Amino acid sequence: MGQDPLRGGARSTTLSILRIADTVREVFAAASGLDPSWFSFNSRGACPTCRGRGHITTELAFLDDVSLPCDACGGLRFNPKALGVRVDGASIADVLASTPAEARELFSAHPDVVSALDWVQRTGLSYIPVGRSLDTFSGGEKQRLLLARHLSDPRRDPADRIILDEPTSGLHPTDVDTINILFDDLLDEGATLVVVEHNLRVVSRADHVIDIGPGAGSDGGRLIFAGTPAEILRDDDSLTGKALAVASSPHS
Ligand SMILES: [Zn+2]
Repeated sequence: MGQDPLRGGARSTTLSILRIADTVREVFAAASGLDPSWFSFNSRGACPTCRGRGHITTELAFLDDVSLPCDACGGLRFNPKALGVRVDGASIADVLASTPAEARELFSAHPDVVSALDWVQRTGLSYIPVGRSLDTFSGGEKQRLLLARHLSDPRRDPADRIILDEPTSGLHPTDVDTINILFDDLLDEGATLVVVEHNLRVVSRADHVIDIGPGAGSDGGRLIFAGTPAEILRDDDSLTGKALAVASSPHS
């Protein structure tokens, strides 16, 4: 997977990053006879008051800017003409507010949407509405969205090498298991995973652990240990090994 950072912020969403926003707009266009651009808050669908941002930012001299929800659209980002169109009872704003599972249901006749949203759920992003702005994503959430986009590409090689930097940051412990299951599936398909990670639930399931230390930042940089999780438990120099031993103790 490339290092390509996710571009765009307030103007990008899960749908646009996964390249399925056009399908969603075309469904609304077909239902209404309007051009698809009416169902983009970056285009003709934009609320004229906030220009599709959903909020109004006021710059104050000597103080931080103040941002308030837009009164005209109620923060929905679209104009009344766009919001008036419904597909199975849902407006375009309803779609953007829905979870990946809800959006998948609504667009179940569209294989590209179904496939992309399945990957979103498997990467542990099932709690994020599909229209949430990318600039509100944590680093770990962006990593996982980038992974979902890569995995949803039909041209990808299942045996490719995937490098991830702290993909579990910001994840609830139960969602870490979702990621671990996905990692197992990718390995079964032949992928090689290189994961920079502190989460012990991920570290303990690796085939090979490389522990760099002894501390963080300028206190680190030395190779402390390399080997299997079982071996690191017995390594006296590795803080990771000690933490892993405590975490896997039945008395902890
Ligand atoms: Zn507005």
